[in-house]
Amino acid sequence: MIRIDGSFGEGGGQVLRTSLSLSLATGKPFRIENIRAGRERPGLLRQHLTAVLAAAEVGGAEVEGATLGSTAVTFSPGKVRAGDYRFAVGTAGSGTLVFQTILPALLTADAPSHIAIEGGTHNSAAPPFDFLERTFLPLIERMGPKIRLQFERYGFYPAGGGRFCAEIEPAPSLAPLHIGERGEVLSRRIVAVVANLPGHIALRETETAAGMLNWNKDCGKIDQTRNSPGPGNLVMVEIGSSEVTEIFSAFGQMGVSAEKVASIAAKDAREYLVSRAAAGEHLTDQLLLPLALAGAGSFTAQKINMHARTNMAVIKEFLPVRFDVQPEADFTRVCVASVENV
Ligand code: ATP
Repeated sequence: MIRIDGSFGEGGGQVLRTSLSLSLATGKPFRIENIRAGRERPGLLRQHLTAVLAAAEVGGAEVEGATLGSTAVTFSPGKVRAGDYRFAVGTAGSGTLVFQTILPALLTADAPSHIAIEGGTHNSAAPPFDFLERTFLPLIERMGPKIRLQFERYGFYPAGGGRFCAEIEPAPSLAPLHIGERGEVLSRRIVAVVANLPGHIALRETETAAGMLNWNKDCGKIDQTRNSPGPGNLVMVEIGSSEVTEIFSAFGQMGVSAEKVASIAAKDAREYLVSRAAAGEHLTDQLLLPLALAGAGSFTAQKINMHARTNMAVIKEFLPVRFDVQPEADFTRVCVASVENV
């Protein structure tokens, strides 16, 4: 039984989700204690509980401690079953994080799966649906499996109620992925979404971000929608290059001006453009797990934050891999290798 200390490093929800993903993928049972000890409200929130229950269903697992607020979980997986699943977070908690928890095991399952996810589709501190679709999954597809997403409804904090579906066509195994420097920038987009809110917010956001990035105003796109149970706003700055499409996002909040929201996303995008890295900081921590499962891979990272370092440590508890992190002039090169192949 692998023992995980949930207070390690970042001490957030990712320690739990990475453990669940890799327990499913490797068949190794684990016990985690001090879940999310580094956060203001420790223990399982709805999003984390849904991830535990989803992983248990997909992996036919026996679970102890799967209750709201629980700070310890024991997870003993059975056999991963591809199939037709629906998981509802029940609050505005991130559905994309629940999806990312069960995805790795289904990428190499023995049959296709259809997954419906309900909850938050666009949450701060989680990958927005668009990031999943345009940044993360195209890279996973380069490793062999095919994933088709269908967006149905926005879910923002606090109302939630969003929905999307995914068809996963597995591959026999994951191929190593090597991503070099970002390369030439081929496309630039700024998308501002306003759900059940006035359109001028989105217009101010696209104009502010375009101005800060010195981009043509034509890069701005506005999605004014009522396809969301509650109100919500985010701005996404999208940079397409030959190696990867990166998305930097920021969320509207009461008391924060549209200009301020846009400037957060634009600043992140600007910092990324200054480096020559392919992966921004969020993509960096999300790529580690699939590359480790493939047993090999490499990419150029804008920066290695605490989140990424924590994830590396948790991954090494489950898989015989080693991470080499080499700072170079304009990025950090991350290489993942199976210890057996070194
Ligand atoms: P908590 O830490 O409160 O438990 P959590 O369960 O949401 O929160 P974290 O440990 O913070 O989990 O992990 C959040 C995940 O969301 C990370 O993989 C991070 O890369 C990703 N993420 C956060 N913000 C963004 C963003 N703007 N774009 C893409 N991915 C993001």
